[in-house]
Amino acid sequence: MNHPPHAPIHEPIRRTKIVATLGPASDREGVLEAMIRTGVDVVRLNFSHGSADDHRRRLTQVREIAARLGRSVAALGDLQGPKIRIARFRDGPIELEEGQPFILDMALGSEDGDAERVGCDYQQLIDDVSAGDRLLLDDGRVVLDVTRVAGREIHTTVTVGGTLSNNKGINKQGGGLSAPALTDKDRADLATAMDIGVDYLAVSFPRSAADMQEARRLLGEAGEDIGLVAKLERAEAVADEATLDAIIQASEAVMVARGDLGVEIGDEALIGTQKRIIKRARTLNRAVITATQMMESMIESPLPTRAEVFDVANAVLDGTDAVMLSAETAAGDFPVETIEAMDRVCLGAERERIAQESGHRIHEGFSQIDETIALSAMYAANHLEGVAAIACMTASGYTPLIASRIRSGLPIVGLAHSAIAQRRMALYRGVVSLPFDTSEMTADELNDQALARLVAHGIAEPGDHVILTRGDHMNAHGGTNTLKILDIGEQHRVN
Ligand code: PGA
Ligand code: MN
Repeated sequence: MNHPPHAPIHEPIRRTKIVATLGPASDREGVLEAMIRTGVDVVRLNFSHGSADDHRRRLTQVREIAARLGRSVAALGDLQGPKIRIARFRDGPIELEEGQPFILDMALGSEDGDAERVGCDYQQLIDDVSAGDRLLLDDGRVVLDVTRVAGREIHTTVTVGGTLSNNKGINKQGGGLSAPALTDKDRADLATAMDIGVDYLAVSFPRSAADMQEARRLLGEAGEDIGLVAKLERAEAVADEATLDAIIQASEAVMVARGDLGVEIGDEALIGTQKRIIKRARTLNRAVITATQMMESMIESPLPTRAEVFDVANAVLDGTDAVMLSAETAAGDFPVETIEAMDRVCLGAERERIAQESGHRIHEGFSQIDETIALSAMYAANHLEGVAAIACMTASGYTPLIASRIRSGLPIVGLAHSAIAQRRMALYRGVVSLPFDTSEMTADELNDQALARLVAHGIAEPGDHVILTRGDHMNAHGGTNTLKILDIGEQHRVN
């Protein structure tokens, strides 16, 4: 595009969504409400920690607060997956020196680790490793090179030494651990997540699309309203284009799970991989979350480092839908300040011209009518002067999703009756969802009611243009085939 798109004509609304993990820190009096007020769009219930009752209690609170504040906050349940861990040490943490031997002993009792060996909760590890493999413990803080496998013992030499404490994670460099994505615990947690009513469910460590399909099968019909999120955190999931594309297409959203992925593929490869995943997800009409250590120092500090500011900003410029906080909000000292900082940084990055320009599918043919309307609406909005917003009457949130794959500085408003659809849109970049019940409206009223809703929420005012998309049929949701350019007038100012 040679001309810059028109800048927003009103105060910009943050487009990039914030996912915040809940935990003991957000349980403190008043913190959850302050986090939501400050701008959390999606809460993450991490099934690696806490009980079913903890997750249920937290989600009940989120729903109550969101309803009171008139906000649509989605819930993402995150299954633990086959995170492989060492067992425990008899006398507390041990120190490993570079060059010393150390044994992972599948036969050792789970509490019996010492300075020479430790047990492992994943017995099949013995079949997945051989001499020459490199194992990364505690997110790579300790590195062990496998020298030989003997019976049920994996003999290693310490390559990077350090402190090793109970239950630390194990990754194999380059991937290749055979564990299936859904463990027995995950299957039980999936049932809990459905029961407490999450909007999105994240599958950890999927190897291929088949793991996502398995999760979808387990959700069954009752899972139709739950969006699946594939956490990309295994080397084999991102090793080739076909595998990555198939995983993305088998999911409603993906996560760049930089913690585990970075350990498996190395930080050097992680840089391009983050960009590639974001690009592929957007191209394939899926949402994408960028996760892990984004504001890590804010666990203990009220201010982010410059490096963190730029990490969040770069993910925004890469085109991510959402940025995620883990321990910062679940266990840190400054959960609300972290949301504040992230909000500020996203807004700053979104001001940059490249965040508002798009060549998305510009040289491609389209095959669907709704898709064509969604993309045309964005093209019109980005080029016509005086447009305040794109408003989409939508049943499921699909049109706003497609529209939001195009970068823009203008808000995309999803007008939906269903609370489920409204929450689904909480993850989409640049999309604001508003409740809109057309069942009591006549066909003639629909457009004016939609415009009035935008004015009431301060998104548009008399004199602005609005691009509206809808279906022709009464009640206008679904079957989007219409694009209109409408003018806001004084009559749209109600109350
Ligand atoms: P986790 O996943 O926080 O559940 O480990 C995210 C990641 O690995 O980055
Ligand atoms: Mn992980």
